[in-house]
Amino acid sequence: MNWSPEIFSINSSYQDGQLSIAGIKASTLAKEFGTPLFVIDENDFRVRASTWNASLERHFGGAAGTVYYAGKSFLCVEVAKWINEAGIGLDVCTGGELAVAQQAGFPAERIEVHGNNKSEAEIAEALRYGVGTIVVDSFHEIERVNRLAKAAGMSAKVLIRLTPGIEAHTHEFIATAHEDVKFGFSIASGAAWKAVEECEAASNISLMGFHAHIGSQIFTSDGFEISATRLLEFMAKYRDHFNRELPELDLGGGYGIAYVPGEQTLDPDQILLAIATVVKHQCKELELALPKISIEPGRAIVGPTTTTLYEVGTTKTVSLEGGASRRYVAVDGGMSDNIRPALYDAEYTALLANRKSTATETSTRIVGKHCESGDIIIRDIDLPLDIDAGDLLAIPATGAYGRSMASNYNHMTRPAMVAVNAGSARIILRRENFADLLALDVQESARKLS
Ligand SMILES: *Cc1c(COP(=O)(O)O)cnc(C)c1O
Repeated sequence: MNWSPEIFSINSSYQDGQLSIAGIKASTLAKEFGTPLFVIDENDFRVRASTWNASLERHFGGAAGTVYYAGKSFLCVEVAKWINEAGIGLDVCTGGELAVAQQAGFPAERIEVHGNNKSEAEIAEALRYGVGTIVVDSFHEIERVNRLAKAAGMSAKVLIRLTPGIEAHTHEFIATAHEDVKFGFSIASGAAWKAVEECEAASNISLMGFHAHIGSQIFTSDGFEISATRLLEFMAKYRDHFNRELPELDLGGGYGIAYVPGEQTLDPDQILLAIATVVKHQCKELELALPKISIEPGRAIVGPTTTTLYEVGTTKTVSLEGGASRRYVAVDGGMSDNIRPALYDAEYTALLANRKSTATETSTRIVGKHCESGDIIIRDIDLPLDIDAGDLLAIPATGAYGRSMASNYNHMTRPAMVAVNAGSARIILRRENFADLLALDVQESARKLS
């Protein structure tokens, strides 16, 4: 049986074949709200947000900057409120994400704006709202931010996004000499220094420091340590040249979480202690004052808090070469609510959540209902042989990049997100309906444009 408490949200339990989240049975939630359903453990979310914040303060003391929750991992108005109540910041990278923050009344000074192609309208709105930080990512953008800030009669606080010359993949780091990515200014090529000079020359930009984000689902500290070291060396270069120190350094997100048994979610204290040790040592070596250190966890806050519930619709068994067989279990969602397996070969685990089974387990592929052979949620997992239509499957750790990357492929309605807490449940993002899907269809007569 695939009950693994370290992968399900903190307030989950499993007894007599019944999964419960925050004291509510999965089968009750499915009956009440329908499936597929994202169930977010509200207390778990709030605890993780506060834990990252407390840990940053513990390891950096007065030099602790801001924990910016990466909104792209999952954002809705209610979650923006939880982030605000945890006292941490929010990283948005589009006008749409900013609109959610505004709807939640999120304090502008704790918002950081990312993105490699922010439009004029997005920059103008960010400035109008008074966001705390804009992370600039291109020369075009330095010009745009400066011009729009000037028009608004203000000075924009800016971090420059740097490419420190390392790229973190899931379990490894690659030193990239050419830095062939769309994000950031390369330190090695000299582009980063040119960006510094342009920001310094800009009348309405106030350069606060540097930013780097090295990747996602990272489990070791070495990539962060190399990145921090290179960024601090660059800060020292800035000091040597301008005779002034920059006050902020943002080391990005990417902290790994457990998806399948055997993996372990990264402990905030462990990783931040390692980073702090290197940052403090480097600052001493370079005779730099400790800058404010910020981080941007997304997945590490929301990922483990959410479980997807699916209802099984059909099953079938196919014969494989060599006499083996594989059982397919099709659920009522799929790649439209979880694109990660198709996109990144991401792995998940699953639990029969509505009843006890003593049947033997058999090699199973969990698939969705889309017209696509690649619509696979779990490629191979042992599950009881008697799983049948009407059963409920729970997939844990779907909080990050699940609902946020959901699509309407095949005109599927995107699932609801229900927040559970101490035996109570409330919808924080309702399920789409057919009226939502049809709302964009237009029948109009053509207008002559030439
Ligand atoms: C995606 C992203 C994050 C968050 O990454 P996680 O893996 O969810 O922690 C943080 N910062 C930037 C700039 C990002 O693009």
